[in-house]
Amino acid sequence: MTERIPAPGTRFVHAGSDPREQRGYVNPPVHRASTVLYEDVRAMEESQSDPLKRNHPVYGRFGTPTGRAFETALAELEGGHAAIATCSGLAAATTAVLSFVRAGDHILVSDSVYVPTRRFCDSLAALGVVTEYYDPEIGAGIEELLRPETRLAYLESPGSTTFEVQDVPAITAVCRSRDVVTVIDNTWATPAFCRPLALGADVVVHSATKYLTGHADSILGAIVCTEDTYATVRGAAIRLGQCAGADDVYLGLRGIRTLGVRLQQHQRQAVELATWLRDRPEVVEVVYPALPGDRGHRLWQRDFTGAAGLFGVVLDGRFGKPAVDAMLDRLHLFGLGHSWGGFESLMVPADSLAHRLPGTRRPAGTLLRVHAGFEDPADLLADLDHAFTELTTRHG
Ligand SMILES: *Cc1c(COP(=O)(O)O)cnc(C)c1O
Repeated sequence: MTERIPAPGTRFVHAGSDPREQRGYVNPPVHRASTVLYEDVRAMEESQSDPLKRNHPVYGRFGTPTGRAFETALAELEGGHAAIATCSGLAAATTAVLSFVRAGDHILVSDSVYVPTRRFCDSLAALGVVTEYYDPEIGAGIEELLRPETRLAYLESPGSTTFEVQDVPAITAVCRSRDVVTVIDNTWATPAFCRPLALGADVVVHSATKYLTGHADSILGAIVCTEDTYATVRGAAIRLGQCAGADDVYLGLRGIRTLGVRLQQHQRQAVELATWLRDRPEVVEVVYPALPGDRGHRLWQRDFTGAAGLFGVVLDGRFGKPAVDAMLDRLHLFGLGHSWGGFESLMVPADSLAHRLPGTRRPAGTLLRVHAGFEDPADLLADLDHAFTELTTRHG
């Protein structure tokens, strides 16, 4: 009899969990640790001989059983060999890049990348690493940008704030054939909706701050590696002093248990809001790959199994900044704040072009970023309707 492969819903519940190892308790304890004691000098020396060894506790900075449970669960869900928890999503991105580059290298980075990741890549110039930005819709055309010294390509799909979907299999196939490492930020989709390693990527990074922890109460990151890349990334993470807090890895693991159902609900709420917004006279465009007609819809249908609750909405250009600001201030249920991925709805201005390559398609009006939380959709739509109606009557 062949063993049945568990469906995703089952995997979120059980990944990385072994209650027998913790006396039957369903969840692991929160290990707060720096010092770990050894039986004798020999045991101490053996553990130091191989810092990559994951199962022997060495020192708190190298991880604890709580962190290991989070890493194991995430690696399993992404179909990776192993994962490394980091203190933030940005630290996951910077550590992944620093693992591979040296002076003289050239790296290709998506022009739609998360802006702090972009700032970090720009700063690599001081170390002799040249960063070049590519059009996220480039696909296999990325081949023309490869140089003999190109070491790494950094993808994010969909892109931050502008939501371009990349042809990940086409890009990773070209890069793989030229020994260029591909790193991809999968924070938006999570393994619930996309598994980039199966699309050819070598390394996946996450801001677990967003959907993985899912309750806006933690800052946490993770890097998921293939077998080929793990030793390199883990070695760099250790040298850089990467580690994550005890409570944060616990919250990351706890979040994973409900990730599947939360993402399905975020998607349902977002589709309802996005569809309503698209039909409003104040709106010229909704940027959300899940909607038919979106530029990335076809690739999204091919490579994703669902859409997260984060999307863009472009207001008609006749509304100036004071009018849009007043509208945002008038919203009650949609919060105005950084980050996303928690249970609450948010709507913030998104300065989409400030950092982009010249020639990037300009939205026809003010771009806002919406996160669909779990409030009742009727209440959310009433909140939007009230603010939009005032926008039109006062400024239209
Ligand atoms: C928020 C975010 C990050 C950074 O995560 P932090 O945990 O805040 O450091 C990285 N990538 C994407 C796509 C993000 O949205």
